[in-house]
Amino acid sequence: MTFRFDNSWLRDLPGTFVRVAPDPAPAPELVVLNRPLALDLGLDAGLLAREGAGWFSGAALPPGADPAALAYAGHQFGGFSPVLGDGRAHLLGEFLTPDGRRFDLQLKGSGRTPFSRGGDGKAVLGPMLREFLISEAMAALGVPTTRSLAVTLTGETVIRDGRRRRGAVLARLAASHIRIGSFQFLSARGDGDGLLALAEYAIARHYPELAGREVPGLAFFDAVVARQARLVAQWMGLGFIHGVMNTDNMAISGETIDYGPCAFMEGFAPGTVFSSIDRQGRYAWANQPLILGWNLARLAETLLPLFDPDGAKAVDLANRRLEGVAALYRAEWLGVMGGKLGLAAPNPQDGALVDDLLAALPGVDWTLAFHHLARAAEGDEAPLRGLFAGSPAADFTAMAAWLPRWRARLDAGSAARMAAVNPAVIARNHRVEAALEAAEAGDMAPFEALWAALRQPFVENPEFMAPAPADFGPYMTFCGT
Ligand code: AMP
Ligand code: MG
Repeated sequence: MTFRFDNSWLRDLPGTFVRVAPDPAPAPELVVLNRPLALDLGLDAGLLAREGAGWFSGAALPPGADPAALAYAGHQFGGFSPVLGDGRAHLLGEFLTPDGRRFDLQLKGSGRTPFSRGGDGKAVLGPMLREFLISEAMAALGVPTTRSLAVTLTGETVIRDGRRRRGAVLARLAASHIRIGSFQFLSARGDGDGLLALAEYAIARHYPELAGREVPGLAFFDAVVARQARLVAQWMGLGFIHGVMNTDNMAISGETIDYGPCAFMEGFAPGTVFSSIDRQGRYAWANQPLILGWNLARLAETLLPLFDPDGAKAVDLANRRLEGVAALYRAEWLGVMGGKLGLAAPNPQDGALVDDLLAALPGVDWTLAFHHLARAAEGDEAPLRGLFAGSPAADFTAMAAWLPRWRARLDAGSAARMAAVNPAVIARNHRVEAALEAAEAGDMAPFEALWAALRQPFVENPEFMAPAPADFGPYMTFCGT
């Protein structure tokens, strides 16, 4: 079966996009095709293997595609830009699966658009493969995320940091590309009708249970808060650091979107930040819940006219909700941590139990600590003790005092539940870098091996479980340009 497209965004949301075609790639070549995903979507992998190089690079359009660049605004590191938009991406359309699901199919790195400003509209191979790997890792970990269908080489040379690199395009699927910044774009223009249309569109696509409510703005905002709070709690539980939680990179669907300088924390340090441009640590691991609230406040500002026609009342309603975000997040976080710790049932002491665990963990590998705790729940404490012994900055004293308090909360099913949510394998920075370096040199084998391991993150896989060697050094990531 081939693509079945519907292009509801272009139909329903005038003034929020520009129709523009991707650059025709001169010599397209498929580097990686996500066959398991294609299968899940009801796509014929054979057809994609034949046509994918053209369709996923912009060289040829799949039947029914109607390419466009979407407009959005955004607060980037706190500063507002009223017009950002897809400067190097093209929405080809909404792909409908045979079982009735709808996904945006977007090309990233596919050429200039009216939103490109000074940029070249292009992307290079390493960063596109990086988004592929990490988004697919997140999906396998059960985190809502955009998906990666393919990466193609365009046959062009792209200059980055003065170096000649191979141009590449990522084909990705998203529940939609509605961002907080999409609302900010309309709000900044004072387009009240557009805002209402976008809210109704977002409700129909992501929160259909809210359709027809008398005050859809409030219910919609609450629903987005719930999903984004849950999402960030999941990130935090996995030690995931998004890296650029700008309002244009937060999806209304509650999916993780726009994988740039993101990475997983190894040794536990709440201030961990990997992005080269995040010098202040605005988007550090421990700050993500605060930024969640900050971004939601920006969303609430745009939705005020939909909360109440009386401005003062609308602000009051918004403030009351925003005051509740921290408690709502805390509940999600304790839910995630309760799962990671295999707790039998929620309990008022959970907050102290989790906080005291964090106080005992600095310097210890986040992922392995929970993985080994699952073993400890079965009675084998040796791997956990070994992990602490091998972590120079760690001290087992606080952990030894904490363990009996935790043990008192376990039941016969705890170990199995813990093993199902605490991954053995994450996308470790040194493995990702090695895979991308080999891919840049033309060898896809390390990438394929890592991707295969990441598809089964809960399976013990000694080859991919080890933390980065000490000489890997402080890790720094760069924006996906
Ligand atoms: P990002 O940091 O990827 O979320 O992008 C922020 C903004 O910069 C978005 O509006 C992008 O479309 C735009 N952008 C990023 N890279 C490029 C590029 N190479 N050419 C044009 N626009 C870009
Ligand atoms: Mg972005």
